Amino acid sequence: MDCFYCKKDERQAALMTPLAEMTFSDVFLFRDQKHRGRCVVALKEHKDEIWQLSDEQRAGFFAEVSAAAEAVSEYAHADKINCAIYGDLVSHFHVHVVPKRKGELQWGGPFTDDIEKVFLPEEEFLETGKGILAVLEKICVKKQLHVASLM
Ligand SMILES: [Zn+2]
Repeated sequence: MDCFYCKKDERQAALMTPLAEMTFSDVFLFRDQKHRGRCVVALKEHKDEIWQLSDEQRAGFFAEVSAAAEAVSEYAHADKINCAIYGDLVSHFHVHVVPKRKGELQWGGPFTDDIEKVFLPEEEFLETGKGILAVLEKICVKKQLHVASLM
């Protein structure tokens, strides 16, 4: 299957950078940081649809999505986290974790990628990733979840 989450190739690298490995998922920092802190949490195994995950996998995966979303929220001082599961073009099961703030970019509607992208200088991008990771590690200790830094 020609899936970039499975192949981990340059198509993926253009869109996101590995941030952390968890038990059921990999967490990535999205390259386009117009919503500062935006991440993707992808299931480690290739599954297309939510009902194809085992019960254990679904429970474990969403506990990790929850931890990642909480970390992004705290890091970004978000008023709301948008969690989105689409996968029309890239079917590998993954969740977009997108922080929103009241009155700011795309507040009150769905986030979209058809507006200008914001690519941070590399140092600032890494700083963002490390900031989220520090919060995620703290949450994972509390929730007894496994997390290993990939950044
Ligand atoms: Zn895949």
